[in-house]
Amino acid sequence: MRLVNHDGRLGLDLAGRFVDLELHSEKRFSSDPMSAFSDWDAIRTWAGGQSLGDAGPLVDPAKLGSPVPRPTQVFAIGLNYRDHAEEANLPIPETPMVFTKFPTCLVGPNAEVPLTSDRVDWEVEQVVVIGREAARVSAARAWDHVAGFTVGQDISDRRVQFAGKPPQFSLGKSATAFGPTGPALVSLDEFPHPDRLVLRCWVGGELMQESTTENLIFSVPELIEYISSYCVLLPGDLIFTGTPGGVGSVRNPRRYLVAGETIDSEIEGIGRLSNLCVTRD
Ligand code: ZN
Repeated sequence: MRLVNHDGRLGLDLAGRFVDLELHSEKRFSSDPMSAFSDWDAIRTWAGGQSLGDAGPLVDPAKLGSPVPRPTQVFAIGLNYRDHAEEANLPIPETPMVFTKFPTCLVGPNAEVPLTSDRVDWEVEQVVVIGREAARVSAARAWDHVAGFTVGQDISDRRVQFAGKPPQFSLGKSATAFGPTGPALVSLDEFPHPDRLVLRCWVGGELMQESTTENLIFSVPELIEYISSYCVLLPGDLIFTGTPGGVGSVRNPRRYLVAGETIDSEIEGIGRLSNLCVTRD
């Protein structure tokens, strides 16, 4: 099942066609994208019975919003790929390094990104969407609490992030539009190997990052076990799982985003974000 937020309304992307959940279910389900998590199992069953014959208009990429626009909590993980820790010249973490992206930074897959300084960087990431509340869940049971995945960009203003010591991650990664997500929330059952997703990022058409989630230092189940040992994870919460090597701030020479460049971020089996960088007013 591919769930999308199309013009603010929850629906299915059925082979590129938009199936409005409220309209096509005769109001059994709500049009609010956040309502997907209170009816998750029923929606999945219903979605399995939909066919192209019922499909509505073409999905308009310009109308796509964040598939999970108002999560209660957004967790993110720093240094969760070995090559990224190495390129940053930092030791491999022994426990997950957890910070937050404040939810107001979330935007859709094709939103413009106003640059807050001359040191804004890209980070393509797999984003886990929680489907069932998770409190003190073991890694062995963790997948039962996952609704699915979406693509995320953990856009980062390195000036803010490294403005003092110790660095502060959350503010520099939460500016307006610093959390593009989408294009769809793809349910876990769609992935034959949910722990083996290929992710890539291009900036201005140049391939900058390419890896697979097999290279995560802390796997999705390990992250859920760790975070849920302290916090309660709620349906709709997001976990940005970390970025692989290839970010701009540790390149030689360093490279940052400039207005007019597009960041393309892709995960096979989910789709692509395409975000144009613009000058901030
Ligand atoms: Zn990140």
